[in-house]
Amino acid sequence: MKIVVGSGKGGTGKTTVSLGLSLSLAENKMPVQYIDCDVEEPNAHLFFKEAEFQKRDVEVLVPEIDKAQCNFCEECAKFCAYNALAIFPNTALVFNEMCHSCGGCKIVCPQGAISEVKRKIGEIHTAIANNKVQISYGKLNVGETQSPPLIRAVKKEIADKNIAIIDAPPGTACPFVETIRHGDFCLLVTEPTPFGLHDLKTAVEVVSLIGVPFGVLINRSDIGDSSVEEFCSNEKIPVLMKIPNDRNIAVAYSNGMPITEADPKYKLEFMELHRKIYERVGNHKR
Ligand code: SF4
Ligand code: SF4
Repeated sequence: MKIVVGSGKGGTGKTTVSLGLSLSLAENKMPVQYIDCDVEEPNAHLFFKEAEFQKRDVEVLVPEIDKAQCNFCEECAKFCAYNALAIFPNTALVFNEMCHSCGGCKIVCPQGAISEVKRKIGEIHTAIANNKVQISYGKLNVGETQSPPLIRAVKKEIADKNIAIIDAPPGTACPFVETIRHGDFCLLVTEPTPFGLHDLKTAVEVVSLIGVPFGVLINRSDIGDSSVEEFCSNEKIPVLMKIPNDRNIAVAYSNGMPITEADPKYKLEFMELHRKIYERVGNHKR
């Protein structure tokens, strides 16, 4: 089962929740994988200080133009929907960062002047942490714009027999969409503030369009106002768990300690959260 933990905006407690859920399941001897798809700023691995990570490169294919064969006809540039090619009377340029590796320019080139070469966009790091949780995270190269191929590669680490807790990138743009594709459930973490409500509405719209079942977790539930709960009630969106504001949890988090260690009562609460999600997804996906 693939449970994606997302949020319309950063700083809502997405990683706190992902870690709490993963560690609680692992403690109950359930096969858990933690998949950190927040590849621009992965941080969950910092909570597994003892883990020894193995890393491997992730590459994409980009075009390379042989100027000796090119007649500068511009067919490739006309084809490219991402403006990743610029052809001038005597030269041809490839803007690798804009290329989406579709391979189309190579196919349309009448001169056979285009070949494909590998370009490293980031790394995948994997470890078995505390002998319980298998953790994989992607790390995008600094300045790299194409995170979806790396996110796809990280998701390939998921084994079908496991419960994968997938920490999604914040926001609702392409990286988030790539993360929730083929997910079984999306848990949207929000907070009861006007900003939280605004971004939750956007996230609900996107997840609904993609067709992944979802529910809400309200973090710092005793601050702000009741507008998030009213929205969920009106839209018949299940609120599956609430975590009140607690300075001790925030301090523990900043010291690299997960919520389930800071306050062990949450182990049971996260197991209950998993039960509710499991009920919604259906027994066959466990
Ligand atoms: S389509 Fe081929 S020949 Fe034409 S400009 Fe592009 S690389 Fe050169
Ligand atoms: S591979 Fe696709 S996206 Fe990349 S330059 Fe060629 S046509 Fe454009």
